[in-house]
Amino acid sequence: MKVLLGTGNPAKLAEMREILGEIPGIEWVSALDLNLPEPKEEGKTLEENAIIKAVTYAKRSGLPTVAEDTGLEVEALGGAPGVLSSRFSGREKDYAANNQKLLALLKGVENRRARFRTVAVLALPDGRFWKSEGILQGEIAQEPRGTGGFGYDPLFIPAGETRTLAELSPEEKNKISHRRKALEGLRPLLRVLVENPEIL
Ligand code: IMP
Repeated sequence: MKVLLGTGNPAKLAEMREILGEIPGIEWVSALDLNLPEPKEEGKTLEENAIIKAVTYAKRSGLPTVAEDTGLEVEALGGAPGVLSSRFSGREKDYAANNQKLLALLKGVENRRARFRTVAVLALPDGRFWKSEGILQGEIAQEPRGTGGFGYDPLFIPAGETRTLAELSPEEKNKISHRRKALEGLRPLLRVLVENPEIL
């Protein structure tokens, strides 16, 4: 059974592929392979955006689809940037500008606690869906460090670590990440779907 990985972000796609790995009976295809346009993220919450992405991609491709939405939630900023994480600086997906804005807002702020939250959704072409959440607790560094990962990774130190996510290897990040925890929650559902294709 073909299952679509619904993202237009190559870095996120690589992590999704690595985390989900081989599931017997599933052939992963990506929104990039199929040249599908990215749905507009018009929801007010991560949950809404994850559902919009998964359901829209599933309808456009006619395939069961896994998609997710992720936000960085900083305690001292009342949970911001949250659902606005990709356009925090005002410039869509400008990672360096987003990181600079975050550091500027936290200048001199002692409480650096933050978390990544991912909502992952499995949707069917008829609009039915299931969701799962994953959280990674940590804190915001004083300056960017590391070259791995993407987005806010150079500023995020997972709880119990001294290195930022961007200083971890991809395997180390994928073992502990918000994305891993959210996607693992969908694995049993994917198995049920493969074993019972009449659900489609
Ligand atoms: P979205 O889920 O693609 O809307 O992601 C929103 C933004 O959150 C991205 O543009 C990145 O800046 C950031 N982001 C998402 N996932 C990660 C991650 O695993 N590490 C660091 N930043 C991330």
